[in-house]
Amino acid sequence: MTVGSTPIDLGRLRRAVGRRVKRIGAARFLVEGRSEPSYLVDLESDTPCSCVDARARGRGCLHELCARLHAGDSALVYLVAEMLAAAEREARTLRVRSRARASNAA
Ligand SMILES: [Zn+2]
Repeated sequence: MTVGSTPIDLGRLRRAVGRRVKRIGAARFLVEGRSEPSYLVDLESDTPCSCVDARARGRGCLHELCARLHAGDSALVYLVAEMLAAAEREARTLRVRSRARASNAA
């Protein structure tokens, strides 16, 4: 899946949601990293991030996705809302199954 020219990996997007991020310019962000304290992401650059993942894959690293979420990229916000809705549906299904199993056992 891609949004604009950015490939979107849903696992990366999910992990991007909880990262700390600070806007330091119109399109520039500092995103909390793991192997380094933070990464500078410039959404107007052809190479938005300098992390190992971005160097290997080009666009779409977790830090870029985090910065895009923070910037209010509506396509990404929509994807996060879809993931939450899918998780809620799954939780509801599991609760129903669990209740059915409990009443069968009774
Ligand atoms: Zn990165």
